[in-house]
Amino acid sequence: YMLFSDLGLSENLLNAVKDAGYSEPTPIQSEAIPYVLMGRDILGCAQTGTGKTASFTLPMIDILAQGRAKARMPRSLILEPTRELAAQVADNFDTYGKNHRLGKALLIGGESLDEQAKTLNKGVDVLIATPGRLIDMFERGHLLLNDVKVFVIDESDRMLDMGFIPDVERIASLLPPIRSTLLFSATMPIEIKKLAEKFLLNPKEITVAPPSTTAETITQSLLLLNLPKNQKHGTDQKRKREALRVLIKHENPDNALIFCNRKRDVDIVHRSLNRHGYQAARLHGDMHQATRMETLAQFKNGTVRFLVCSDVAARGLDIPEMSHVFNYDVPTQAEDYIHRIGRTGRAGNLGHALTIGLPTDSKYIDTIEKVIKTAIPRILLDNQKILEPNKIAPKNTERDLSEGDRTKANTSNIQSDTSEDFGNVKAGLGSRPSASRGQSI
Ligand code: AMP
Repeated sequence: YMLFSDLGLSENLLNAVKDAGYSEPTPIQSEAIPYVLMGRDILGCAQTGTGKTASFTLPMIDILAQGRAKARMPRSLILEPTRELAAQVADNFDTYGKNHRLGKALLIGGESLDEQAKTLNKGVDVLIATPGRLIDMFERGHLLLNDVKVFVIDESDRMLDMGFIPDVERIASLLPPIRSTLLFSATMPIEIKKLAEKFLLNPKEITVAPPSTTAETITQSLLLLNLPKNQKHGTDQKRKREALRVLIKHENPDNALIFCNRKRDVDIVHRSLNRHGYQAARLHGDMHQATRMETLAQFKNGTVRFLVCSDVAARGLDIPEMSHVFNYDVPTQAEDYIHRIGRTGRAGNLGHALTIGLPTDSKYIDTIEKVIKTAIPRILLDNQKILEPNKIAPKNTERDLSEGDRTKANTSNIQSDTSEDFGNVKAGLGSRPSASRGQSI
């Protein structure tokens, strides 16, 4: 199917989709929507960024348009691993459901139980919840699940990572057997396959390409800081923060996510950037829910330009139009690298992903490059300046440089192994996929 109007959705819904500015369905949408409308179970292997949320919210809106919800008996249930993801799905229902009159409730931790109970009492068509809070509400008697017609388990592999599968199984046992079940997961580990076998009846299986094969719109670079191996941790970190600032200055991003591997470093990098005059916010799992939501809203509306975050906090977030992702740390899992850089270069926009590495990261870098099946182009840091590979002459310093660059290169001593600030940095493998963006070094 090439058009939204081919998928069997109602006129009201098509208008809302048009107002959202979408011209055509994404692959998961054209594949899933007709089957969801038919009431078939779905096993969807897809990540955020593929348009998977609309692939279930759109048909659900049309399915739920008929009928009415009774008090405390939601007519559909969507489970999400994190509160942020749940809030995001709720936003989707607002956007696409604006021409419908569907009641919805968001059951997430950190918000008032009383308010949530009141909303449930009014009767909701759509219930979006994290598993823990849902069970809590159920046990308090605010909720009955016998009327659920559509059950969505989103981001199942995240649920698994977070230890939610027993909760999910318990919740499923409270649902009526006649329903449709839609299960989505970015990856399909054995535990998720088992879950699918247990809950899905003759599902339509849909797999769409993960960001690792669709990231042509992302320009990747790797800055290796060739610091001596047995340096003090603090010294390494200081160099990395300096390097980050040089990268930011060079790239001049519209907005960026900056990933750290540890919560502690999220705090440190966040403080450091602010001290150097960059408007940065931070996001990690130990922060209060209200603060997290507020921070995210500030980042989305452009009040803050930089968001320093951990993987846990940022997984699955949909922040459109992000120009840059910085990896302050090389992720130790290749999958995290793919997730991180997939936050940029969405919906055909150009994105940039820059990673700072230390010699001790080499085994992680090797694995990442094996998984993404490309060498990440190296960039060089020299005298607080970035040199891009197409401007680096690998052997004879000046031969490949243009006139303008040559003058600067001579003064900045490209091949020096003893650059004051950062030591020597390993140079170019391949070149950046897109031509240099015209910034001079
Ligand atoms: P998701 O994978 O559901 O997190 O969606 C990723 C982003 O794609 C969201 O910002 C959606 O608003 C956007 N999106 C979803 N469907 C389409 C579409 N058909 N055309 C353009 N953008 C879309």
